[in-house]
Amino acid sequence: MKNIILLTIDDLRYDYSHVIIKKINETIGRGIEFEKAYSTGTSSIFSFLGILCSKYSISPDEEMSYLIHKGGSLGIAYDPNKMHKRIYLTEILKNKNFETYVIANVPFIANIEYRNTIDRFITGYNTSNKEKAIMSVEKLFSAIENKNPNLRGFGEFRKRFYRILKSLIYGIHLEKAPYCSAKEITTLVKEFINKKNGRGKFIHAHYLELHTPFFSNGYIEKKFEVADIIKINRAISDGKTKKISDEELRLYKKMYLTQAEYIAENIVNLLYELKKSNFLKDTIIILTADHGQFFGEHKMPCGHGTLAIRDSKDLLKLLHEEIVHIPLIIYGLGKKRISKAVSQIGIPPTILSLLEIETPNLWYGENLLNNSNKPVISEARSGTHEYYSVRTKDWVFLYDEINGQSCLYHIGSEDNNLADTHLDIVAEMKTIIADHKNKKDKKWKTHLKNKIKNFLKINRKKSDIPF
Ligand SMILES: [Zn+2]
Repeated sequence: MKNIILLTIDDLRYDYSHVIIKKINETIGRGIEFEKAYSTGTSSIFSFLGILCSKYSISPDEEMSYLIHKGGSLGIAYDPNKMHKRIYLTEILKNKNFETYVIANVPFIANIEYRNTIDRFITGYNTSNKEKAIMSVEKLFSAIENKNPNLRGFGEFRKRFYRILKSLIYGIHLEKAPYCSAKEITTLVKEFINKKNGRGKFIHAHYLELHTPFFSNGYIEKKFEVADIIKINRAISDGKTKKISDEELRLYKKMYLTQAEYIAENIVNLLYELKKSNFLKDTIIILTADHGQFFGEHKMPCGHGTLAIRDSKDLLKLLHEEIVHIPLIIYGLGKKRISKAVSQIGIPPTILSLLEIETPNLWYGENLLNNSNKPVISEARSGTHEYYSVRTKDWVFLYDEINGQSCLYHIGSEDNNLADTHLDIVAEMKTIIADHKNKKDKKWKTHLKNKIKNFLKINRKKSDIPF
């Protein structure tokens, strides 16, 4: 019986992942390394749909729940009414008698629908009272914005106020981490693997230490002055509206790498535990990130996700390498380097293939270890505005359909826009995006119809439905 351990690291961009990968390789040897793996979206809320459900975030049913709840982008994942049609990897594994353990650490994916597919679910994230206060203000603003969609300048004011509030809260004290630390994850996973009953296990743990604000974890404060950590937390928060200094950026990168070291150290401890208990020999470990982040590249503020962006014409930049290029390694199947472009949506089908379980045909991805070489699509959205990117062996194409903005780059040189001189390639890329959208619509049409029917039956508020 095989076990699967899926380790995901928030914010770990590909070109900064060596700190962690090197330590793991030294402990258990190299794995199958994907050199060009891309996230499906630009923040956790979107990319976890790829990692856990082999699904894109911009799908008709996700869209519907978004429109109904109108709770800002958070509405997509917070929706408790089970409007989504998602087939979770854990749902299938549980049906096949696997034990499923999850240390979620991101509240976005912790909805009821998902939790029902998990034997032992550890939220990991305890929203502090201060954060709850921020969320209430956000909710209030969102309600105002939804009631008065034409209120000029309110959206910008809302973003600004939200950031100031955040920087006031995290920029004064160094708080204790509100999530499960890397050290606690090791302890918990050790507990899971020691529960022996002959069933295969699926364990997913998510590491949050690279995400700002940085919190006290007994490691970072040994390497940096507390005052400096607070300064950086504040600078990153403020950095969304004003440029952070070169000195702050240098210090920030150092702290990010220190946190990566802390994660690496604790993953190595976990691997020793797996070795000691003989668990490792029957186990495949998959290591990846949900997405990356900017360190000020492309004149963008530090961070990721649409909240990080100052004006809408910049949003297309979210689909650059710094955000969507992620590490992806499978340990336990020998060593190999794979250079084709692959997507996160391939992770769930790969896991099922390794366990010889059939992949549901509503999933978008396919086994990463197949020979196929399809273009990789990533998506970003802000409100109802959608952005797409396509990556092939040679090209990167970024597309804002509404504004008609196209950027075409040779892979590896995302500064030189060739869209105006390579119209044939641009046309080809647009066709790929159109096909992608059509395919999604077709795939979920029947499901969506049934969902609407059920929703109407339960809610009876027909006037709220935007169809
Ligand atoms: Zn994330």
